[in-house]
Amino acid sequence: MPMAEGMKPGIGNYHTHTYHCDGHGEPREYAEAALKKGMPRLGFSGHNVVPFPTDWTMPATRLESYLHEVREVKERYRGRLEVFLGIEADFIPGMISPVHRDIRGLGLDFVIGSVHFIGPSDGDHAWTVDGPLEEMEDAVQHGFGGDARGLVERYYRLLASMAETAAPDIVAHFDVVKKNNRDGQFFSEDDAWYRAAVKLALDSVRESGCVMEINTGGVVRGTSGSFYPSPWILREACRMDIPVMVNADAHRPEQIDGKFPEAVQLLRGAGYRAQRQLTRRGWIDVEL
Ligand SMILES: [Zn+2]
Ligand SMILES: [Zn+2]
Repeated sequence: MPMAEGMKPGIGNYHTHTYHCDGHGEPREYAEAALKKGMPRLGFSGHNVVPFPTDWTMPATRLESYLHEVREVKERYRGRLEVFLGIEADFIPGMISPVHRDIRGLGLDFVIGSVHFIGPSDGDHAWTVDGPLEEMEDAVQHGFGGDARGLVERYYRLLASMAETAAPDIVAHFDVVKKNNRDGQFFSEDDAWYRAAVKLALDSVRESGCVMEINTGGVVRGTSGSFYPSPWILREACRMDIPVMVNADAHRPEQIDGKFPEAVQLLRGAGYRAQRQLTRRGWIDVEL
């Protein structure tokens, strides 16, 4: 199969979910897809185990087989595809974080850090910000007294706090809190308070040295109208010299390079000339 149009060689994907969490397909099938598409590198990032039930994180009983299967694929494809073992770690203060000993002890190649859970107070994981619309409405109504601004500001404070206290290698879907705001029913990205909240989180990400991803997964799956983050945030990030990488947040093997050419275009439009990539020899910048 030819390489996706407009895509230059040298670009990998580091945000990949398999059947061990909420994705479909075995690690081996994702590696085959990467080879077919001519991608040189592939990183796996299963959702970490959390100490309460969900229908999308990795059950504790699956963690060992996830680690084992990805390591096996890493061995089997050596010389043909660089495979990296990672995890998408939640940040829930006082409970779990990208630098929690349970994560650090896994012998991972990289960690993606995410804020999915949000509650009316730190450490409260009552709602997810990237769930269905009804969950967002419920959170705003019952967690924040009908005040969407309160929820959004808490989201960005948590993101900033993750970067400051538990910096991962990669910060996931920076403005995922906009997922259910397609019609602007909760806020406007032009609101001064929204821009201020974003700016504070960007400051912390820059200080941390984390790589920020441009996440195409929501658009590919049809759950978001635009990539994370929005173009104006990318422009700001570029001005601040925050390193970026394009990630698919793939949940099926065929999605591992979904909308990459469009994302690269957006990066160029924001002023970026290169994106960061993890290689066997460490982190490098690859020209766009
Ligand atoms: Zn995520
Ligand atoms: Zn993900």
